[in-house]
Amino acid sequence: VRIASKIGGLYDAALSLVYPQACAVCEVRSVEAHADLPACAECWSATRIFNEQTLMCSKCGLPLDSPAILSEEQKLGLRCHRCDMEEFTAARAVGVYEAALRASVLSLKRTPFVGTRLLNLLAETQKRAPLNEATRVIPVPLARDREQERGFNQAAILARQLASRNCLPLDEWSLTRTIHSSMHRAGMDTRARRESVDEAFRVIRPRLIETERILLVDDVLTTGATASACARALRAAGTKEVFVLTAARAI
Ligand SMILES: [Zn+2]
Ligand SMILES: [Zn+2]
Repeated sequence: VRIASKIGGLYDAALSLVYPQACAVCEVRSVEAHADLPACAECWSATRIFNEQTLMCSKCGLPLDSPAILSEEQKLGLRCHRCDMEEFTAARAVGVYEAALRASVLSLKRTPFVGTRLLNLLAETQKRAPLNEATRVIPVPLARDREQERGFNQAAILARQLASRNCLPLDEWSLTRTIHSSMHRAGMDTRARRESVDEAFRVIRPRLIETERILLVDDVLTTGATASACARALRAAGTKEVFVLTAARAI
């Protein structure tokens, strides 16, 4: 049965080169442009992507509505204040965790492939202030048991592609995950869960990162707890700034 399913998988892969793939979001339309994978152009249009005009919290990048028309200076000072305690300097995402971005994140957990459209958007987001100050790219490490199970770390896949595209040094070694964060998480309250993530990251080569401005890369920002725990470990090792870039974020 396993061999049959492997052959089936290869057959599917071969077929998808010839026949267009169905969109992972609407499952109705086919993906016409390979760059758009895994979603069709219409589903990409239906996804909220952030740009220079998006009003957002200057720290965590949460999109905000403002009743008043704001000056450029006021826009730069907008804060949601929910993120006041987070340890990173600033976090930005390509857009909202929905439609095409959600499908991209889910697909990346199964296949180590980043669509060109997503990569272009990540590269543009990194080039906007303040993430453009970053000097070194570090992926959020995956718990070792998970990485072995999956065969790759999806954050590292994104980080490699982005570092290569934007000509930034990549560092997959300095930050490591020390304990298995998947342990006992189900029964924990939010605070206990935060503390369990806190202990999970360690810097093993502080001299490499102590004067750097780190760009931490992950697939999705949800509570910010993981990014904050990584930032704490990096700051404790002497990093000046920790910026966070994700493909998508919860709102
Ligand atoms: Zn679609
Ligand atoms: Zn915020």
